[in-house]
Amino acid sequence: MVRAASTLGFLTFGLLLAAVPSRAANPFDGGGSGGIEVPKPNLEALQEAAADARRSSADLYSFSKEEAAAAQLKFAFGIKAPRKPGFTFDADVPADIQAQMRADLAFIKGIAGDKATPLHRKIFGGVNGADYTKFFETRVSAIGMNGCGNGNAVACVIPFRDPSKMWLTKNFIRFSHPQVSRMMVVFHESRHTETQNGNWSHATCPTPFLDANGKDMKSIWTGATLAGEPACDETPLGSYGSSTIMLKNISKFCTNCTDKVKMDAGLYADDQMGRIIDADAKKQMKNDFNQ
Ligand SMILES: [Zn+2]
Repeated sequence: MVRAASTLGFLTFGLLLAAVPSRAANPFDGGGSGGIEVPKPNLEALQEAAADARRSSADLYSFSKEEAAAAQLKFAFGIKAPRKPGFTFDADVPADIQAQMRADLAFIKGIAGDKATPLHRKIFGGVNGADYTKFFETRVSAIGMNGCGNGNAVACVIPFRDPSKMWLTKNFIRFSHPQVSRMMVVFHESRHTETQNGNWSHATCPTPFLDANGKDMKSIWTGATLAGEPACDETPLGSYGSSTIMLKNISKFCTNCTDKVKMDAGLYADDQMGRIIDADAKKQMKNDFNQ
């Protein structure tokens, strides 16, 4: 079913990309007749199709490489003035959800650490609230409400709608996981704002996808089996990889976290590490965590 859905998504985008020919707006076109007809994406149609695309309900929100490519067409080539870090809530974000998000971000802002691994320094900077806040606020400019494609989602970034907007679902205040793991999702989603990096779209988990004991790998968020799902990463720098690095560093180096926070951070980091399916990437992360 999942494979059918992603194929459908691909086909839909393929058709939309091809169906709207227009004259190439390039200096070689000459503006007269005889110019080369090239397909120009109909971005409104792309956005509508993306909004309607079926999503896997097995894990966190995911989008296809084609959808990320559409986002890049739309957003990455415009020169944007650097904006002031910070974000706004849409008017329809309920007060209790806003309060939870602010409390979570305040918790992250309060973190202090005495060390960070090289990969953590590369992605986030130090293990400290100022660097995490800067990471978030330079990527996310607005927060709105959305269903995020499946009933278990708590947050998502939908690059082709707005690459710097994070969407929260009503589950954000009903989340049954520890606070630090909800922040793991939020920072995972923040990484998806990076249009210049193809939004770090997920890799497809292998089939079968087994843990060290030969059991099916399951989502810690939903309990669903992950084989064949778009819920893995092939690089330490992607959304699963980077949020794993963040939590692993918090578990190892936070100096003002409670034992429970450090334990939760380690537990969820170890779980998400299982999503890294490339052997070299995994080795790189293991080495990094020992530094
Ligand atoms: Zn993701």
